[in-house]
Amino acid sequence: MLCDNCRERESKINFTTVEQDTKVTLHLCEQCAQQKGIETGEACPRCGRPLVKQYSKKTGQEFVGCPGWKEKENPCKYIKPREGEPERPEPVETEIQTPQAMQQETPD
Ligand SMILES: [Zn+2]
Ligand SMILES: [Zn+2]
Repeated sequence: MLCDNCRERESKINFTTVEQDTKVTLHLCEQCAQQKGIETGEACPRCGRPLVKQYSKKTGQEFVGCPGWKEKENPCKYIKPREGEPERPEPVETEIQTPQAMQQETPD
């Protein structure tokens, strides 16, 4: 089956979306799926969700990351490092050791 978008390449990805209460299944080739930010074919190394191309308004750049960041439960904020970029630090709050936590064992 050919890609519904470009009708040139073989479709490899079936993407189901709901538009106006109607289920629509798109058959897309890898290139079109990536353009639409659907799937990159890679799985998140942390939670296994398929990584998607996303656009950051903050930096004005596209990046590949885990779609799990918007989950309420067990959000996953993995962002794939760009080529040549070292592993990104976690974009989550760091656990700052408070002086209290460090002095759990009091001499008394
Ligand atoms: Zn296509
Ligand atoms: Zn993830």
